Amino acid sequence: MNPGLYIHIPFCRRKCAYCGFFSRAGLTPEVQASYGKALLREAAFVSRSEYGGTVVKPETLYIGGGTPSLLPVDFYSGLLEGLSEFFDFSELREATFEANPEGLSEDYLHALYHRTPIRRLSIGIQSFFDEDLKRLNRGHTGREAVQAVENARKSGFGNLSVDLIFGLYNEAEKSRWKENLSRLAALSVPHFSAYALTVEPGTLLEKQLEKGMVKIADEVLLEKEYLYLQQFAHEAGYEAYEISNFARADKYAVHNTNYWRARPYVGLGASAHSFFGSRRVWNAADLTAYMADPVGSKQGETLTEKDLYHEYVMTALRTVWGVEKEILRRFSPALQADFARQAERQCGLGNLEPTPKGYRVPEARRFLTDGIAVEFF
Ligand code: SF4
Repeated sequence: MNPGLYIHIPFCRRKCAYCGFFSRAGLTPEVQASYGKALLREAAFVSRSEYGGTVVKPETLYIGGGTPSLLPVDFYSGLLEGLSEFFDFSELREATFEANPEGLSEDYLHALYHRTPIRRLSIGIQSFFDEDLKRLNRGHTGREAVQAVENARKSGFGNLSVDLIFGLYNEAEKSRWKENLSRLAALSVPHFSAYALTVEPGTLLEKQLEKGMVKIADEVLLEKEYLYLQQFAHEAGYEAYEISNFARADKYAVHNTNYWRARPYVGLGASAHSFFGSRRVWNAADLTAYMADPVGSKQGETLTEKDLYHEYVMTALRTVWGVEKEILRRFSPALQADFARQAERQCGLGNLEPTPKGYRVPEARRFLTDGIAVEFF
């Protein structure tokens, strides 16, 4: 099975108020060069240790971060050329690049389109309101977000996704979520993701909330916003194919869908994770250590059958395909029987519904998926 390839670019210009991802400011040309070399050294190691030195044909490529669009296109064309010693990119089904609107000039995007195999952009817009963007410490305006989408189209990128955040608003501001979605509709992108704002430990948002400087949606409002999001998606012709992901005309995110279906992937870069069937391997979230020795901080674990089963059920129930009998057959008869017992119970409660291939959470209960999934553990 051809794996996905993920490359983590852990650099950002500033830290967004809610961000718990691994990213660092202070990118210099020296750091950039050193990080690029480290990625190639790690790729050489993974190629030898996991694939016996044979060239691997990834099905998907995903360059994420951080803010990949902070680095010049030269960096990526050089990196992908270097990686071609270990990976053959000729059969990619999808190649995605995460970007923030402030870096997406027409020149940049034109070069990216013509000098790399990247054909899909995932643009972090989050909100079209400047007031929200300031509050979130984002580095762009709403106008720049719209311009970035226009620039992407002019440069040849038709396969676009944008990210929005909900749960930002208190009762008095709640109409802004609807307004954000109608501005999204005007962009008419084939795919979007909408994530609930979560309060990660150690973030600026956590401090602001502790000091009472901001108010965000409570659980009741959050659920209402999600239900409105589902209604919007239907009316605007998007399929809610995963709890946070919406696509028109089968433009599913292939790379992420493979994560949810427990397919293998290689992750390169500081803090990146890889998954090889039943083994997970990851690098420390330490940029300096990674650049000094990109394989020195590797850790790994072999997942038990029960771990794999739990992960599969948890992620599959978040999708429109749900838990598929064909995939479930990979597990022991005892786990299959456990699943069947709990599935029957959850169907009785209206939390699960049968499909031709298995079981899924009905759309009206999708917001409650994580709570339903833990019943299977
Ligand atoms: S751009 Fe993304 S990775 Fe960077 S700080 Fe903001 S949310 Fe985090």
